[in-house]
Amino acid sequence: MNEGNSQVITGWGRTSPSRTRLIGVQSEDELRRALARADDRGVIGRGLGRSYGDAAQNSGGTTIVLSSSDIYVDVATGVVDAAGGASIDSLLQQTIPEGWFVPVTPGTRFVTVGGAIAADVHGKNHHRDGSIGHHLVDLTMMVASGEVVVVDRERDSELFWATIGGMGLTGIILRARLRMIPIETSSVSVRTERHSHLEDLMASMESNDESYRYAVAWVDGSVGGSRLGRGIVTYGEHATIDMLPSLRRSAPLDYRSPRVVNVPEFMSRVRPLRRSTAVAFSELWFRKAPKQRVDELVSIPSYFHPLDGVGKWNRLYGPRGFIQHQCVVPLDAPHAVRAILERVVRDRPANVVNVLKRFGSGNAGPLSFPRPGWTLTVDIPVTDDLVHTLRDIDTIVGEWGGRHYLAKDATATSRSIRSGYERLAEWQAVRNRVDPHRVWQSDLGRRLDLCAG
Ligand SMILES: Cc1cc2nc3c(=O)[nH]c(=O)nc-3n(C[C@H](O)[C@H](O)[C@H](O)COP(=O)(O)OP(=O)(O)OC[C@H]3O[C@@H](n4cnc5c(N)ncnc54)[C@H](O)[C@@H]3O)c2cc1C
Repeated sequence: MNEGNSQVITGWGRTSPSRTRLIGVQSEDELRRALARADDRGVIGRGLGRSYGDAAQNSGGTTIVLSSSDIYVDVATGVVDAAGGASIDSLLQQTIPEGWFVPVTPGTRFVTVGGAIAADVHGKNHHRDGSIGHHLVDLTMMVASGEVVVVDRERDSELFWATIGGMGLTGIILRARLRMIPIETSSVSVRTERHSHLEDLMASMESNDESYRYAVAWVDGSVGGSRLGRGIVTYGEHATIDMLPSLRRSAPLDYRSPRVVNVPEFMSRVRPLRRSTAVAFSELWFRKAPKQRVDELVSIPSYFHPLDGVGKWNRLYGPRGFIQHQCVVPLDAPHAVRAILERVVRDRPANVVNVLKRFGSGNAGPLSFPRPGWTLTVDIPVTDDLVHTLRDIDTIVGEWGGRHYLAKDATATSRSIRSGYERLAEWQAVRNRVDPHRVWQSDLGRRLDLCAG
């Protein structure tokens, strides 16, 4: 086993850097040795570092990256057995040509299976299919004692569910078996609608819950008043073979992961994205969308992972990085969405990526984020005033009975997390059982005092 390097790491938002001993482990024995050598700052697992805040870092302690990334696909049943360190990107490259698609994908394919489960990620189909936890067959994980256990809905179901959404604080996911969904083609049939204000946009999404498997809206965060919340909603379904033009029917499952060009490193040191650029971009983005377009065929990457087209785009936010704030508020609290957008617009930040979605039912994971509601994501570059904006947004989330997404969080308070996650004590009891000596620790866990109790 390598001894690890002392490194400063951050999450995708590039805020809250911390120094840790970063170790790549190749085997269970190496992982066990790393656990045995951990001091009182403990150990945390890290995937591809796509959580935005401090979830996958451990200041003064050890951070583990799993090297194994093997994937076995049962092409007859669509059950995949993947290493915790395998990426969704490599999973898709293996399964799409065989006619299987991940049941849930976040907005980037550059996440690991372990990281996706630890955050219980949701996709554009949450209202229909739930989060990734709904589709797991079982998990093989190493717990704090170094023992390897297999957990599922029968075998230690408490640990199974505490790990789904447990942000790495119950153990390291070594492998997962996951049920994929069948597809006939690698294309998506998309319906696009442009709405000139929030109420219209939300009404469309509400009335189309049953009609489309995938639904998501981009919301313009640069305009207020009667145009507040104007945006573009895209609905999608996997295209069937008969929807393809005849020339493409001979290779309907053709799929290549597109090459990604990175934003150069020096961009992270220069002046961040300006507000004027963000406003111009939002205006253009809104105008270029059709009022309504149906049956457009697009590729899987362009529908599911549009941001992956540019690598390391987080550098565009400059030296101080950015916060991506995501909350969910109950379905009957659409006013909270309006209030948060009003608050963002008032500050006039250089804000571009705002996403609105409807969640369906949650699952049994006590720390799983999704629950029936509206989930709103806003990106806000770090400025001196940001703290006031976030405090106000958090007050709105709390007043309307909402909660924050831990995988995006960098700034919430322990109090707001306790008010949003009413089953936290249940999760803590499982964690105390499997990790009485507090081996698993992270900056997020300490900042939010998640493990106390
Ligand atoms: C552009 C972009 C779009 C996104 N869109 C969405 C979205 O649509 N929906 C959504 O839900 N999320 C979304 N996310 C968030 C992302 O899916 C999650 O943060 C995910 O956890 C990142 O996976 P990762 O492999 O990078 O893990 P990391 O960020 O490295 O780690 C995340 C958490 O997982 C834990 N972890 C990592 N590996 C393991 C393991 N093997 N065993 C146990 N715990 C482990 C870490 O300790 C940490 O707590 C998006 C992120 C980006 C950058």
